[in-house]
Amino acid sequence: MNLVSVTQNDQKYEELYRITEKFHSLMDKDDVLVELISTLQALYSEFIFYLFLSHDNENHRNLPIKELGFDHQDGNELAMEAYVTGKVTVSNQDEANQATIYSPLKGKQGVYGVLQIVANNGVELSDENKNFIVMLANTAGTALENAQLYDQSKRLIKDLQLINETSHRLNKNLRLTDTMTYMSSRIMESFDADEVGFFYINPDGTIQIFPGSTKFFSSDELQIYLDYIKGKIEKDLEGLFIGDISTYLSGAEYSSIMAVPMVQSDSLKGCALVMHKNPYHFSFDMFKLLQSLIHHSTLALTNSLLREELETLVKTDHLTQLHSRNHMNNRIEKSIKVDRQGTFVLIDIDNFKMVNDTYGHQIGDDVLIQVANIIRNNIREQDIGARWGGEELAIYLPHVDLEAGIAIAERIVTRVREDTTPAITVSCGVSYWNAENQYNFDQLFKKADNALYEAKSLGKDQVIVQSDTK
Ligand code: GH3
Ligand code: MG
Ligand code: MG
Repeated sequence: MNLVSVTQNDQKYEELYRITEKFHSLMDKDDVLVELISTLQALYSEFIFYLFLSHDNENHRNLPIKELGFDHQDGNELAMEAYVTGKVTVSNQDEANQATIYSPLKGKQGVYGVLQIVANNGVELSDENKNFIVMLANTAGTALENAQLYDQSKRLIKDLQLINETSHRLNKNLRLTDTMTYMSSRIMESFDADEVGFFYINPDGTIQIFPGSTKFFSSDELQIYLDYIKGKIEKDLEGLFIGDISTYLSGAEYSSIMAVPMVQSDSLKGCALVMHKNPYHFSFDMFKLLQSLIHHSTLALTNSLLREELETLVKTDHLTQLHSRNHMNNRIEKSIKVDRQGTFVLIDIDNFKMVNDTYGHQIGDDVLIQVANIIRNNIREQDIGARWGGEELAIYLPHVDLEAGIAIAERIVTRVREDTTPAITVSCGVSYWNAENQYNFDQLFKKADNALYEAKSLGKDQVIVQSDTK
């Protein structure tokens, strides 16, 4: 070895040192590949470099990439051999005076691609150069592996966050509709799905679609998927991961299907269904994520479903200690039969979502209780105050005429405005029935609901009375 080549070698190893350092700081696969190719091109302008990558359909920045496959063209076989064995393969000088080396980009856990070095016009590739390039390729392999692990851990963290946030939500005991709507939107977003739905299997075998499911789940087209999926999961309680269901169901509009059963104490309670029109849209990783998401939520979901079913059975709302909606309905229906008149007031907390968002759910609940107490303190024994649902409350005043009913509603609006902490307001819609207008229960409710809607659009914090035009 003469002095010139010693210095050249020194330079190269300095370069190797520099690039290794650089590689360690790169978290993106493309950055690693760009660095590798540009370093090689700068050091060895006499050679041409290509990269063979497997299953690669990403967009790379002007990198000389060839797809690694099993076809017999363009040295693909030798590249494949290098990829599979993790060893360098060589094709010696051919008729076109071209020699090629395939050096695997190898990490500790696998091979990530193959670097192809082409020497044209009989240019020689010395052992020294060859060794150096192979070393560089290995360093790049380790860097690619790190970038991939980094990617994976980022994805894992995101997955865990999704599960974490969802469990957190579920444990907050929100209304089932709110929780399911949230879950559905998170799944749509995380899996880039077209349709997301949940169904519950009643003990008698009938199916109930959970709130929060996309519109498709209330359409007739659902049935063919449902029959197929229900049959499958009932049998083995396992999930279904189908890339193209149209092979089993001809004419199916949605091809990609993920179905995960909700199982509790070894029995099937329901199922989550995620769909996309394109075939093979979901990855197996997504399926696994969906599985753990559903496993984590099943208990909370079935509990809150039971809770809401119970709520309709019991006479008193647990949070506010007002009557339940169901109980109030029964009382109104009875009153319309036997009394002469009555007034109905629908009360909705203004901007309640903001209260929750600003102060948290606990304070939100407390505000609901405060409003319930104000209602209780402003009605008489024979009147009925009820939790209508969510943040909507209602009062039914048997025998009470419209004027007196309005006065009570006005009083409640004022008391809420002045006495609540944090200060909130409510809007009221008032309706009234008597022997003359002969409104039935549904009409009475509709009238109050329309009035409430108007109170909201007129700026909230006020009482609006039914308009008598139908
Ligand atoms: P608007 O003035 O138009 O009525 O707006 P809003 O924010 O009150 O109405 P919206 O229907 O958008 O939001 C109602 C919120 O009430 C959303 C829901 O999470 C919350 N909510 C319903 N029931 C409860 C409950 O029992 N406790 C708490 N803390 N929040 C509830
Ligand atoms: Mg509301
Ligand atoms: Mg409201």
